[in-house]
Amino acid sequence: METSRDPDRLLWAWTGWRKAVGPPMREVYPQLIDVLNSGARHAGFPDMGAVWRYELEMPNIEQTAAGLYEEIKPLYQQLHALVRAQLRSYYGPQLVSADGPIPAHLLGNLWSQSWQSLEDIVSPLSETQRPDLSRKLAEKFSVTDFVKLAENFYVSLGLPPMTEKFWRNSIFQRPDDNRNMTCHASSADFFTDDDFRILMCLERNERDFGVIHHEMGHIQYFMAYRHLPTILRDGANSAFHEAVGDTFFYSIFGPAHLRRLGLIDDDGFSPERSLQLLLQRALAKIPLIGFSLSLDRWRWQVYAGRVAPERYNAAWWQLREQLSGVQHPACTAQQMEAGCNADGMDPGAKFHVAHNIPHIR
Ligand SMILES: [Zn+2]
Repeated sequence: METSRDPDRLLWAWTGWRKAVGPPMREVYPQLIDVLNSGARHAGFPDMGAVWRYELEMPNIEQTAAGLYEEIKPLYQQLHALVRAQLRSYYGPQLVSADGPIPAHLLGNLWSQSWQSLEDIVSPLSETQRPDLSRKLAEKFSVTDFVKLAENFYVSLGLPPMTEKFWRNSIFQRPDDNRNMTCHASSADFFTDDDFRILMCLERNERDFGVIHHEMGHIQYFMAYRHLPTILRDGANSAFHEAVGDTFFYSIFGPAHLRRLGLIDDDGFSPERSLQLLLQRALAKIPLIGFSLSLDRWRWQVYAGRVAPERYNAAWWQLREQLSGVQHPACTAQQMEAGCNADGMDPGAKFHVAHNIPHIR
């Protein structure tokens, strides 16, 4: 999805994944919702969505999230208009309309949640003006180097290095032995003094350079409260846990650090470099806001019994169109209400739906 610019091939991958995952998942998902809701009710909550919202310890989280979305919307609309115009001139008017939603399969990501890989199409800078960090990272560093660099970064801030067990037990690369393994990066606290692990299939590119720092942010947080009794060994809330690594993210990709690692040669503060950094961060993070909000709003509605399985897909695409201006490649949300692709369950294409993990954190 990131590197192909062949619309048929992109459509094939986008649709194939959803066809393989969605319909079978839709068969069992309502049962899962029943089980979760019954657990939630035993604990005194109306449904599982209420449990998720309660965990964040913010009153009126639905309104707060909607308010934050509205705040960022003017900037999102500008970014959306720029990307749509560039995609239209790249793929042609028969694929991308001048003023409608953008077809999801053209956004350079399986879920259209980050548009960073479209930089070559969107950026006004030429290729020589844009350093290819992924290529440089892959040339200079091994997978183990990536993890070491992340560790060095945290140590340079006065935080502790990773433990011996971390290095022994973590998995950074998909093993060769065909084992059935979830490759979605995650971090785990084994609730001893020194057993903390990362599991990921690290690829030597810019994205995974960010991901390893993010995951290590979780480990640093685990280690910071490891002296506490088990019941207190948890983040202030789950959003806090995500924020640790992502806060450092902005320093990792800042010009000073990139220069320190020998990834850029100039001082990094030219107008071109600033433009590139800002555009990259915008493409990576701003579309994520509407996506996350859609993902959890959809599930809040489903948990609350407001969306029947027949409308799973229609309700999902209504949110995606409304909040993100992104459209299913073959049918509009309205056509979906009338039965187009109605047997799918496209939100199920996302790891967090299958694994039942909130996203809005
Ligand atoms: Zn995380």
